Amino acid sequence: MPIYEYRCSACRHDFDALVTSSSAPVCPACGSTVLEKRVSLPAAPGKSQQVIRQARAQAAREGHLSNFSPSER
Ligand SMILES: [Zn+2]
Repeated sequence: MPIYEYRCSACRHDFDALVTSSSAPVCPACGSTVLEKRVSLPAAPGKSQQVIRQARAQAAREGHLSNFSPSER
């Protein structure tokens, strides 16, 4: 599940929220649901790049292109 960084529009409190499809994030400081979504926090960029490279290398060995976007084929 993704974790997003939010800033509360009401009180400017910054916080991270784990977002699920069933619940909207709420400011922990004031309870407002009027929030600005800021940068997402994926896995460490270096690590995810490595994972992508490994997946693509494996795909290349196996002769399929499902890990590549259309522009890279
Ligand atoms: Zn707030």
